[in-house]
Amino acid sequence: MKISKIIIYDEPTVPEIQINRIEKFLKDTFHTDVEVRRSFFENVNDEIFQKVASTRIFELKKPFSKHIPTELEIQIERKNTDNSQNEEKVLYDGFELQKTISKFIPTDEQNQNVLHIILTNKLTCTFDESDFRYHARALIGTNPSIISTTGIIEAPAKPKEYYLELMTDFSKEKTDEINKKYKGEFLEYNDPRLSEVLEGYILQAIMYYETGEAFCENKECRLYNAHWQKELLYSQLKNKKFCSKHEESFRKIINQS
Ligand SMILES: [Zn+2]
Repeated sequence: MKISKIIIYDEPTVPEIQINRIEKFLKDTFHTDVEVRRSFFENVNDEIFQKVASTRIFELKKPFSKHIPTELEIQIERKNTDNSQNEEKVLYDGFELQKTISKFIPTDEQNQNVLHIILTNKLTCTFDESDFRYHARALIGTNPSIISTTGIIEAPAKPKEYYLELMTDFSKEKTDEINKKYKGEFLEYNDPRLSEVLEGYILQAIMYYETGEAFCENKECRLYNAHWQKELLYSQLKNKKFCSKHEESFRKIINQS
């Protein structure tokens, strides 16, 4: 394995993350050194908050252009409160955020054998040249890897019928009724299943860093790039296995030292 140590940064505003279970999962799976830290955004140079705020995006149909943040926006970053459930979500360019974070990793920890995995509530998005718009993303791979808990909830789509029913009536009452009807079929905020699903994304981050291969096209694989919540819950909670091809590359990785 190229990686000799994984440093994973928790997101303290998301209490569903069972960081100790995740740590154990990583140690048991990869038999490598794992260190858990409370948050990437604690004990870091104050400059970072201005830089992070400048990666905000406001227009979904335009490629990234650097935002000049207001004092209030910088203050919001400093506080790192969970705003993911607000109506007005703050969106960030995932690759720009990744670049920013990488600059704040101490030099002695910038080592290709040390993989940094940052869990965050920030909603990361990437601009897609094929349809010329931003899409929410749960995982921004490479080193550091960013995994967005809000992205896990927002990026894979809910059932089509859910949106159709909502289209007719947006009232709070109707929304609650529909949420009840489809309960369990997709991840919600404060969903206790989030932590286990996170393990799958962490696996994807590690495998991507080790092999350079992004995602899998096979729905029976934990590396599957789920477009629908239903697929996500199937591949990460029910099936929980690699396809035969990735089972083999996983074995190879853990047997190299
Ligand atoms: Zn696969």
